[in-house]
Amino acid sequence: MSALCKPSGSIDTTEHSLEKISHWREEVRYSFTMDEKSDVTVLFGGFTILQDRLIADALQSLGENYVALPNPDFESFQMGKMYGNRGQCNPTYFTVGNLVKYLQKLRDEQGMDTEKIVKKYLFVTAGGCGPCRFGMYITEYRKALRDAGFEGFRIMSFDQGKGIYQAVDEPFAMNFSPKFFITLIKAIVIGDIINNLGYKMRPYEVVKGDTDNAIETCRTIMAEAFMKKKNLVLAMRRCRHELDKVALERLQPKAKVMIIGEFWASMTQSDGNYNLHRFLEEEGVECVAQPVYNRLYMNIWEAEQELMANQSFSKEGQPKLDFSLFKSKVAILGAKAALSAHIKLYAKAIGLSDYKIPDIDMLARMSKRYYPTESNGGEGHLEVAHLIEASEQNLAHLVLSVKPFGCMPSSCVSDGIQSLVASRFPSIGFLSVETSGEGAANFYSRVQMALYKAKQAAKDEFDTIVIPKKTPQHIYRFWYQPKTNKAGTAASLIASV
Ligand code: SF4
Repeated sequence: MSALCKPSGSIDTTEHSLEKISHWREEVRYSFTMDEKSDVTVLFGGFTILQDRLIADALQSLGENYVALPNPDFESFQMGKMYGNRGQCNPTYFTVGNLVKYLQKLRDEQGMDTEKIVKKYLFVTAGGCGPCRFGMYITEYRKALRDAGFEGFRIMSFDQGKGIYQAVDEPFAMNFSPKFFITLIKAIVIGDIINNLGYKMRPYEVVKGDTDNAIETCRTIMAEAFMKKKNLVLAMRRCRHELDKVALERLQPKAKVMIIGEFWASMTQSDGNYNLHRFLEEEGVECVAQPVYNRLYMNIWEAEQELMANQSFSKEGQPKLDFSLFKSKVAILGAKAALSAHIKLYAKAIGLSDYKIPDIDMLARMSKRYYPTESNGGEGHLEVAHLIEASEQNLAHLVLSVKPFGCMPSSCVSDGIQSLVASRFPSIGFLSVETSGEGAANFYSRVQMALYKAKQAAKDEFDTIVIPKKTPQHIYRFWYQPKTNKAGTAASLIASV
């Protein structure tokens, strides 16, 4: 056991000494002072490739020295397994191993000595309590780093449940101010919108690679806007022009596959899910990915539920009108409204008017019959809600649920509850697949089998519509995203004219 991580007491379980029980606590004595701040690089990572890069640019614009870790790969996973505890979930191995790999490269390839690495770098991540292993991530990082030879390497965390209102009660150089989190959220939202467009455009591009090139130009535009503190809305308008240059042939009946599941495994664009999105696109499929801001809405929703539950307990001596609860309620409503306003603003600027904002309350109502919404951990009821929503609103031809090996919440949902939900909503294909880090061939072949039916469904849907002799030009433009009762993009475009 590390010197930094000692039990503060033992657990006495005898019946007569309940009051003496002292739970194990991890004692961590890390400091990060303003004096050393200018010399320290803050490492982070774990979102999509575009988002990690945008976040680094956005936070650097605040004078923070943030650097994104490279995208995790299979070597990161092996590194995580080598130094991590046994029986962890897959995202833990990938993310922990990715950090170890990066530090080892600094040491072994760039010749930096360990002491200097420990002094000059630290890692920041979201932390939180919860019923799954997420609550243990930070301890895992510390354990793996110690065993890999980086004893004392600092892991800093903010509480993901507290949003922009973090409590920092000691002299501490990490900037966890509301401004920091608002900038971070802007980068996440902008990244979500551009990523989303990438998924919608790539399958239909006339020249392979044009969408990625346009997205790279958008990234440069947004990075410059963040760094030079320019207007982000105007910058998104410039991105619209770049994306509009990509020629699209959108009248191809391609299967639409919605990807749901555990947050990291379904979002990552890495070996963490065998590069699932790119694999599907190579198979001629359009992906419907879950944006990261869904998770932010979920956090706000959970905070609201907790507040309502607290309100229903009247404590002795508590005033009848509790202004602290009222203030929290206002803060929650404000956070929700601000998030929606920013999403709409940036989406409109890039050309997407009428952009769909997740209705998190409706999703909770949808899933309540199958999943107790008070039971959080992982994605909670969201996985169930997405499957029902996809079926009821005909949003895709197939729903793929990505479940990391060793994931407790996702296993209960996708192996258990979703079997019932899928049987009650048979209009849509559903497949739950596990990512273990190894076994890509099995994973791909299971997905391919499900794709066969999805592709057939897309073709059948397209065959039922009559294509007019003349099609208006705007249906080929990326920003034209009509809402119809058709799942496939091509069928939907024709149905809308
Ligand atoms: S939701 Fe699953 S994969 Fe994600 S941290 Fe929890 S146990 Fe691990």
